[in-house]
Amino acid sequence: MTHTSIPERPTSAGMYDYYLGGAAHTPIDRAAAEQIVQLIPAVQDGAWANRGFLQRAVRRLASEYGIRQFLDLGSGLPTQRNTHDVVAESVPDGRVVYVDVDPAVVAQAADLLDGVPTATAVQADVRDPAAILDHPETRRLIDFSQPVGVLLVAVLHFVDDDDDPWGLVARYLAAVPAGSYLALSHSAVGDRLSDQVRDLSEQVYRNTAHPPTDRSKTEIEQFFRGLALVPPHPGAPPAVTFVGLWGAEDLPAADSDGARMGYAGVARKP
Ligand code: SAM
Repeated sequence: MTHTSIPERPTSAGMYDYYLGGAAHTPIDRAAAEQIVQLIPAVQDGAWANRGFLQRAVRRLASEYGIRQFLDLGSGLPTQRNTHDVVAESVPDGRVVYVDVDPAVVAQAADLLDGVPTATAVQADVRDPAAILDHPETRRLIDFSQPVGVLLVAVLHFVDDDDDPWGLVARYLAAVPAGSYLALSHSAVGDRLSDQVRDLSEQVYRNTAHPPTDRSKTEIEQFFRGLALVPPHPGAPPAVTFVGLWGAEDLPAADSDGARMGYAGVARKP
């Protein structure tokens, strides 16, 4: 018997949507995500902590640092307060190019953006910077002579060491002018789990289209090499912090296990 179609697998986008309580995932995504929630109950809180970082960082870039155009790489399924919604709160004509490798993500984003002239969705792999930077839709909305907010939020853990995620960040930052910013978050959950839970969750993720790679804080800090980190909140020293704590000094519930499932930072290209 010949199989012409690839069996459907859970996707990171669908599982993340499930963690966030969205409705855009498939039953296969949900089954895999429920297994992870059983193993790591803080994962849903962690997804919210990360989504909150994305929103807080974009708000800071748009409202305080004057960034008017954003490249949102690994943007995920549209949910509440997407990047262009947050940008529009401070910069009504701000522009956003959403990029994701998952065709279902891009189809849903394109539906949502129908009639929105300031935002677009491109299907591309973050490991192929040229395809993204030279894409006609990117060139239509982003003026590369002006500062750009490069967002790599909860996506580089889906890129293996063999694909040199540090080199990829450098490629994106080389394409934007001084005064641009990088906002990046990355999973670092592994060393907080028992060996048994880690092995079991790796088994679940191994079935997904893009199994994640956990990295240490030091490895995550390396993404910001050559850039000037900003303070995570007023009065703090510039630093990479736990993802749920970045810019969250006013949130009473920010400091939780979920908030500590990864690291995040925002930095300026000098
Ligand atoms: N950035 C959003 C956020 O933080 O709320 C979504 C993060 S979601 C956990 C990760 C997204 O990265 C998914 O939508 C997935 O499809 C996408 N992704 C994974 N590997 C990718 C790749 N190689 N290129 C582009 N997108 C990728």
